[in-house]
Amino acid sequence: MTMDFLPIFANVKNKLCLVVGGCTVGARKAGVLLDAGARVRVVAPEIDEALQAQANVEAVLARFEPQHLEGVMLVIAATNDREVNKQVSELAQARNIPVNVVDDPELCSFIMPAIMDRSPLMVAFSSGGASPVLTRMMRGKLETVIPQNYSNLAGFAGRFREEVKQRVTNPAKRRIFWENVFDGVVAEKVLTGDEASAEAMLGQMLADEDNIVRGEVYLVGAGPGDPDLLTFRALRLMQKADVVVYDALVSKPIVEMTRRDAERVYVGKRRADHALPQEEINLLLVRLAKEGRRVLRLKGGDPFIFGRGGEEIETLAAEGIPFQVVPGITAAAGVASYAGIPLTHRDHAQSCLFVTGHLRDGSMNLDWEQLARPRQTVVVYMGLHGLDILCAKLIEHGMPDTTPIAIVQHGTQPTQRVFTGTLATLPGIAEREKPQAPTLIIVGGVVTLREKLAWFHPQQN
Ligand code: SAH
Repeated sequence: MTMDFLPIFANVKNKLCLVVGGCTVGARKAGVLLDAGARVRVVAPEIDEALQAQANVEAVLARFEPQHLEGVMLVIAATNDREVNKQVSELAQARNIPVNVVDDPELCSFIMPAIMDRSPLMVAFSSGGASPVLTRMMRGKLETVIPQNYSNLAGFAGRFREEVKQRVTNPAKRRIFWENVFDGVVAEKVLTGDEASAEAMLGQMLADEDNIVRGEVYLVGAGPGDPDLLTFRALRLMQKADVVVYDALVSKPIVEMTRRDAERVYVGKRRADHALPQEEINLLLVRLAKEGRRVLRLKGGDPFIFGRGGEEIETLAAEGIPFQVVPGITAAAGVASYAGIPLTHRDHAQSCLFVTGHLRDGSMNLDWEQLARPRQTVVVYMGLHGLDILCAKLIEHGMPDTTPIAIVQHGTQPTQRVFTGTLATLPGIAEREKPQAPTLIIVGGVVTLREKLAWFHPQQN
């Protein structure tokens, strides 16, 4: 159970509701009920004059009696006498009538949220009684970002809802259609009060539906794991896409940040765990986009660095499907800063190489001459399984066996660990410590800087 209350909106139009208490608070509560179209019976020895005079108010100048609950759909008790409030609450609950007692959560079977009213758009806020002040502050914040005239926009959409439903029958396409409306000029027109133009434009969009509702693919780099390292654009598209295709490298908190109602498709990809082969992923993206969906292809790090993003967009381009590519922080960059290892440094490395240590037929096909050169940093992706070969080959090609080398597991994530040693010692250390994938290997003098920089790197272990 994760919710303390079930939020619902009650239809009280022309229904009889009871308010016990006739002073300021009672009058305010009665006012809310009247705004929602209810008929209100107010019971109290004294009742606010203005309230008594209102249409749809039945004023009963008396102390509360059980019979006042007769025919009532919902009750609010707002007297300053706890005994009376308690009696109202008990009697109402015994009759299964929802009851709210102002400022007394224990006696309530429902609570009243703070509201932001842009009718027909309505936002309700509640902290379940934990902190009404926080709730009101939150409302205050949203009040400033959701303009009053959203009311008109919601009303406008309501008037065309049926027509659009009939013209755009596919629900996925219909959602995209409406999102285009709210994102675009039609909404601008409504918000500036020019509903005639808005209506004309909406008509055009409906006529041209096939062109407007086209699927597309966002190839987005999610970075190495810490959600704070996402780009703004990544986040925006994550909120927009209706289907998410992601693999093992994308951290869980990031997957959780995609739209709640989006479909999520896991396509695996850890060594030996290819949930879907690359060719099938390519075809899947094409198929989803052709259904008119907005597809988020979420990849760890940067899509174009050992991410096979190039192959995916080649297929999309061949099929004429629109796409955009959003860069991400690649593992090397993320790991370097969170582990306190600068990738280049005037005293140690003037260049930096990114290579993949993915084994083909049990051997690593790398340009060892090039990797073994001095005054550079070598970053090895997917290298853990070939660590022994990597160290041996580098030594064989002339690198001193005292060269510093690090393995960083789960870089930028809470489970990040850094193991350091030399070409001679690290394989033994890895054997003992068993780092968990994903890991990144960094070779070169820069690894020693980690100790110097350690004190101002709160993230590193
Ligand atoms: N496109 C990705 C790389 C995909 S290849 C990028 O730009 O980062 C997968 C390899 O990336 C892993 O085997 C590992 O070597 C490395 N990697 C990705 N995320 C990592 C992380 N959080 N920590 C350490 N290495 C990571």
